[in-house]
Amino acid sequence: MTGGGGAVRSGIRFDQVTVAYGGNVVLDRLDLTVEPGEVMALLGPSGSGKTTALRAVAGFVRPASGRVHLGDRDVTALPPHKRGIGMVVQQYALFPHMRVRENVAFGLKARKVHKSEIPGRATEALELVGMGAYAERYPRELSGGQQQRVAIARALAIRPGVLLLDEPLSALDAQLRSGMLAELARLHRELPDVSILYVTHDQVEALTLADRIAVMDKARLQDCGTPQELYRRPRTEFTASFVGNANLLPVTVGSGSVAFAGTRLELSTGEAAEGSTATLCVRPHLVGLGDGPNALRGTIAEVQWRGSTHRLHVDVDGHRVKADLRELRETPALGAEVTLHFAPDDAVLLPVGAGVAQPSTALCPQSPDGLDFQARRGGPSHALKAMGEIEDKTVTGGARG
Ligand code: ADP
Repeated sequence: MTGGGGAVRSGIRFDQVTVAYGGNVVLDRLDLTVEPGEVMALLGPSGSGKTTALRAVAGFVRPASGRVHLGDRDVTALPPHKRGIGMVVQQYALFPHMRVRENVAFGLKARKVHKSEIPGRATEALELVGMGAYAERYPRELSGGQQQRVAIARALAIRPGVLLLDEPLSALDAQLRSGMLAELARLHRELPDVSILYVTHDQVEALTLADRIAVMDKARLQDCGTPQELYRRPRTEFTASFVGNANLLPVTVGSGSVAFAGTRLELSTGEAAEGSTATLCVRPHLVGLGDGPNALRGTIAEVQWRGSTHRLHVDVDGHRVKADLRELRETPALGAEVTLHFAPDDAVLLPVGAGVAQPSTALCPQSPDGLDFQARRGGPSHALKAMGEIEDKTVTGGARG
């Protein structure tokens, strides 16, 4: 099943999609485009509307207003089985009384694929997820990770142009999750035409897999961009703290500098008005120990050893500043006075407050023109290296679960 196995390159477009339950708006005018072949992660806390967005694409919820497009088809009124979509949910949802092969063949029968084609298509899908040898087993004879592979095979057997994954790894333990993440990345390379919408509340999954991440909170799209953009240049405090770890410090804007806890810090203040208050965001792994530009003096309040790094929590005039430090030979003592510093280019100035609330069209109607997702693939691993804090959790192997 190469090149999507005949999947139609379609992509997904949400056009002002609103979903309400009993008058309660749970998805508010979502505008978002997933390009053909793109992996878009919907990332946000529980209850932010991610699954609802996914179900609107699948056809399980009907928007109160707005349209859903798959490719150039408006599918808003189309029943789920006519949308050509594969879907995988958290709890696998395999039929316990059917063997693996029958589970995978089920969707093909339902779609009235010709009988003679079904065994070959089921085998092909199972092989794609490394489960060819398990075709005659029952789900109860498989581990959680293997069951999830079968669920993915079942979704892929119909050769969908769009694959919807709803927290597919959250029922697995950490090690299996890591192996499955690598598997999903491999699958995506083998099916470059399939658009994937991936719902998760786990930033590592989103950063590892996604070409772009749509950040959701309180029924709205809050931010959208490549993992690198969101990590390096978050637009809101919410994105900064939800995508990666961040120091968020209250500052007063000066001219080409800000004042924090009585200290002048140099950085680009962009459009921020002089005299206004703002939030300075700097990632912990970009904070260094010792003298340097933008030095801050403080007292060590807490030290966490994390294997490859020490995380220092330093009290600077009543504010906690986190620094992730590599290659410290000794664990610093609590109460010790230290100086931290960061480069002006490593800090971003954000508006005060979590909310965004600009219309979502302004955030991410579609990817920049001519963006080639295939060419970018492989890029995220560089980005992940830059994101020191998650480096240890990134996936390199393809462990079987
Ligand atoms: P997420 O996937 O981000 O956790 P959901 O999209 O599942 O969020 O849910 C968004 C909101 O919609 C939540 O407050 C949830 O309780 C509510 N909701 C979801 N499904 C239903 C439903 N069938 N009936 C009523 N409320 C629902």
